[in-house]
Amino acid sequence: MQRREFLKTASASAFALAASNRGWSAGTTPRIAYGGIGIESSTYGHIRARMEDFTILRGKEADENARFAFLKKRYPKVPFMPTLVATAVPGGPIARDTYDKIKTEFLERLQILLPLDGLYLPMHGAMFVEGMQDAEADWYESARKVVGSKCLMSASYDLHGNISKRIIDTLDMMSAFRTAPHIDREETMSRACDMLVKCIQGNIRTTLMWASIPVLMPGERSSTEWNPGKRLWSQLPELNKTPGVLDVSMLVGYVWADEPRGAASVVVTGTNPAEEEKVAKNLAQQYWDARREFDFGTEVCSLDACIQKAMASKTSPVVLADSGDNPTGGGNGDQATVLEALLKAGAKDVVFGGIADRPAVEACYQAGVGKTIPLSIGATLDPYASKPVKVQATVKSLLDIADPAKREAAVQIQGITLILSAYRRPYHEIVDFTKMGIDPKSAKIVVVKSGYLEPQIKAIANPNLMALTDGSINQDIVHLPANKYRKPTFPFVDDLTFTPTVYTSARSHS
Ligand SMILES: [Zn+2]
Repeated sequence: MQRREFLKTASASAFALAASNRGWSAGTTPRIAYGGIGIESSTYGHIRARMEDFTILRGKEADENARFAFLKKRYPKVPFMPTLVATAVPGGPIARDTYDKIKTEFLERLQILLPLDGLYLPMHGAMFVEGMQDAEADWYESARKVVGSKCLMSASYDLHGNISKRIIDTLDMMSAFRTAPHIDREETMSRACDMLVKCIQGNIRTTLMWASIPVLMPGERSSTEWNPGKRLWSQLPELNKTPGVLDVSMLVGYVWADEPRGAASVVVTGTNPAEEEKVAKNLAQQYWDARREFDFGTEVCSLDACIQKAMASKTSPVVLADSGDNPTGGGNGDQATVLEALLKAGAKDVVFGGIADRPAVEACYQAGVGKTIPLSIGATLDPYASKPVKVQATVKSLLDIADPAKREAAVQIQGITLILSAYRRPYHEIVDFTKMGIDPKSAKIVVVKSGYLEPQIKAIANPNLMALTDGSINQDIVHLPANKYRKPTFPFVDDLTFTPTVYTSARSHS
């Protein structure tokens, strides 16, 4: 039977069986598929991630995307076959029907590519789906049913991903970012893919080991740019050279989702369980010992105090981070709390990027550049979490974009130049301002919805202040409402005791 015809007529379970009886044979080209889903979901807001919030690269679109260009360069003789890759700006939980639709399409695309020797999963690790616990485990288990037990599965992770027994029991290998802010995306994805290719071609079965650490920190306290994060993560490249170890990952976990798997982790992939265990236990102990040392890497203050300091600063621009509403951490990105406080304080020469508010953006486009109009700004996506601010605003610039869902407008409100966006998005690069005709470097105060600053904004901060604002990712984590499902972790429980133990994947014994 022609392969194409066979693919059409055979059932998924038959494929799974065929795959499970197969091992890669030398001299043939390994069959590797790739695909995954990445989002960071706070359970403390009211917004939901829906289909329109996802960017989905299907088939060739993934191959042609810059994010996956390394695959062709790195593995010219091993084609990685795309399924789909879905990503969204961090936010609330994914609506269940959206998740089900994306997963179904992923599995259908995976099934067409069977039989497979390997599956690479570019993931994030902090996804939350309505009515589901441990959504990444669901994704992997569903994929495993399709690809069969012999297929090797390798995932790349964000440093802020959560791990669970189900995840460890389903994957064969994984690698997580080693930097926060994340500047090692391609290196991490390459490590995950290198292991996969090496293990398929060498017919190597790995042992995946996991040490869970009952500590949960916001990313703003656990950056790798200062201690203890710097000290802890800087050891990983050297530990990766341990004989019998293929990858060492250490994850902060994600604190703004109230679920049992929330915790820091060490995950080691390798072929020498004794060495892996030693590395995992040692790092887990070090992380635990450092738990009281984690701290913000910049000056933090209440919103009002930050505004007063910024207005009095002799240097500029002062970059003021609205940390509770940072969309790249799962905040709504629609809150006008900081805008209201700036207006109240009479702050001048302020550049603000930005607030997600589609009705306000549409009003600006309708009015046109130069017009002054009344606007209600903020609280359009989550009306429960904050209140709108009513202002008179003059439209300064409009992006020339036809799609109303992707538009942005800059407005002048007294001494404040504010960018409004029709969708949730960060303003973490200089071009995000300059494309609106705004030069953030020449402002006295630059407001961004961010925790720790991303590199380009950090480079202009003189100085940086982090305002401890309310929002879905409030930094005051121990006072977050509804901490119902989380297991006892520091700092939610202060007097815990801990001795590192290592869990070995069920697949290692099969
Ligand atoms: Zn992250």
